Amino acid sequence: MSISSKMNRRDFLGGSAGIVTATALSSVGISSAKAAAPIVGTQVSQIYRRKLGSYEITVLGDGYVDLPNEIWANPGADEINGYLADAYQPAGSIRNGVNAYLINTGKKLILVDSGAAGLFGPNAGLFPGNLSAVGVKPEDIDQVLITHIHPDHVAGLLTNDGGVVVPNGQVHVSGTELNYWTDAEAQSKAVEISKPWFDLARGWQAAYDGRISTFEGETDLGDGITAFPLPGHSPGHTGYRVESEGESLLIIGDAVISAAIQFANPEAGAIWDTSAEDSIKSRKMLFDMAAADRTAITATHIPFPSFGYVDNRADGSYAYVPEEWRYGS
Ligand SMILES: [Zn+2]
Repeated sequence: MSISSKMNRRDFLGGSAGIVTATALSSVGISSAKAAAPIVGTQVSQIYRRKLGSYEITVLGDGYVDLPNEIWANPGADEINGYLADAYQPAGSIRNGVNAYLINTGKKLILVDSGAAGLFGPNAGLFPGNLSAVGVKPEDIDQVLITHIHPDHVAGLLTNDGGVVVPNGQVHVSGTELNYWTDAEAQSKAVEISKPWFDLARGWQAAYDGRISTFEGETDLGDGITAFPLPGHSPGHTGYRVESEGESLLIIGDAVISAAIQFANPEAGAIWDTSAEDSIKSRKMLFDMAAADRTAITATHIPFPSFGYVDNRADGSYAYVPEEWRYGS
């Protein structure tokens, strides 16, 4: 006879309450030991799995970078601080998480973006470790999709000495995007902060030479994945719609870099956006589409685990509704 079947309800509840209490206390590190426990200050992991139809998407966090209010071209710092206060966030800067995504179709492993490697300071560059933590080797990746060629989206595809991290498979990127970031004249006209990003883009192109496929406009890439243009953040900035068994997800890159700010004010934009006008147009189009279709979105810098929905507000702004944490994927 098993232990539980011998117990009556009262014994079971009383017994299990005792067990839970002891387990809970030990799991959070509270014990009767007298030694002081250190304050850790970091999370155990930045990894999250979410099913989409028969696919499974794994968010592979790359860490974060703090971006001061000076990165906003519009609106001014006071207004930015107002949005941050509304979101119960400290004034003066945003803490910007960075994600890469791994789509497992059941037959293929498709990587979307790759994190910043060592370029975004000591709190980023976690992508390779998190990829390895989920048991995937870079050589197992069949395909790479790029939302845009900014350092925090492509630098993780390069080793410290400029070699390839993902040795097999095709890399897909917008042709407009690749042309822009490898163009000397565009580099000379770009805002100061983004000038070095062109050098990175050229190195990246050289490393993956022969394996880069470009597309223009809305393009079916197979496996239920459609690339669609979201220009403005960069000229060929691209979103990917992923569909499996009637479920859809929009991977929107940097169409939103701050959930606290850009849903309340979709006209807020960064100093490195190549076209403020296009960026606003893309963002509003995307928000209206996601709200009308009730489609889930995920963005590189929306707070982890970075899945949510968009609602229209009566005043023309938008509300972000984070998806509740899924205990199973
Ligand atoms: Zn970007």
